[in-house]
Amino acid sequence: MKRMTGYWLFAVLVTGFSFVFLTGDSVKVASREVVSIPNYEMPMLVGDIFLPEVWQREFAEELFWPMMEHIASRYPVESLREQFQKVLERHRTGEVPIVLRYKQYGTVNAMFIWRWPQDGMPEEQTFRFYVTQLMIMYSHIGSEAFMHQLLVTTLHEEFHRMHRFEDADRSVREIESRAWWGDCEYTLQVMEEHGLEVKKMFVKGALKAEAYYAYKASRGDRNAPEWQQFMDRVAPE
Ligand SMILES: [Zn+2]
Repeated sequence: MKRMTGYWLFAVLVTGFSFVFLTGDSVKVASREVVSIPNYEMPMLVGDIFLPEVWQREFAEELFWPMMEHIASRYPVESLREQFQKVLERHRTGEVPIVLRYKQYGTVNAMFIWRWPQDGMPEEQTFRFYVTQLMIMYSHIGSEAFMHQLLVTTLHEEFHRMHRFEDADRSVREIESRAWWGDCEYTLQVMEEHGLEVKKMFVKGALKAEAYYAYKASRGDRNAPEWQQFMDRVAPE
C-alpha cells in the first residue's frame, strides 16, 4: 500500500510537470504564431519512377499549393516573403499564371515560359512547375528543406521573368549563369544574413548548395573558374 502511494505521488508530479510544460509551450506557440510547415506522407522514391497523374494531383493539392500559401504568409525572411507574395498575386490575377505539369521534363523543377508580344498578340507569361520532379525532391529532402527550395526555385524563375527582354539575345549559358548567380546573391545570401544556414537547408550535394559554395569561392567574379565549373554542370556550352 505504501508503495502504491509512492507511485501515485510520482504520477501526480509527472503530470503536474507536463501540464506546466505544455501550458508554457502553448503560450509560446500562440504568441509567436508558429504554424507548422505543410507535410505530406510519402515513401522515399528511388530510381526511375512513374507517378500516376492522380498521385501528382493529390500532392499538388495537399502539399504544393498549401506550401506556396505557407511561404507567402509565413516565410521567416520578410524581404523574400514579399517577393514571393507578388509572384502568387500575379498568379491570382492571371497576369502570370502558375501552371502544373504532370509529365516529367528531365530533372527540371520549374520553367518560365514567355511569348514576346508580336503581330498584335499580347505578351504571355507562365510559370510551369513539374510535379513528378517536385515529388522526387520532396521525398528526399522533406518539408522544411522543400519549403526553402520552393522559394529559391520560384524566385529563380521570377529572375528570368524580370530579365526576359534583356535576355532575349543571350545564350542559354549566359542566361542561366546570371539567374543562378542571382539566386546566390539575392536569395541564398539573404537567407544566410537572416541566420538560415544554406548548408543545413539544402542537403549536401543539392545543386543550390553547390551553387552557393561556387558563388562564395568566386568572390564576386562570374568568370572565376569555380563559377564556370559549376555552370559546366548546369548549362554546358
Ligand atoms: Zn533558370
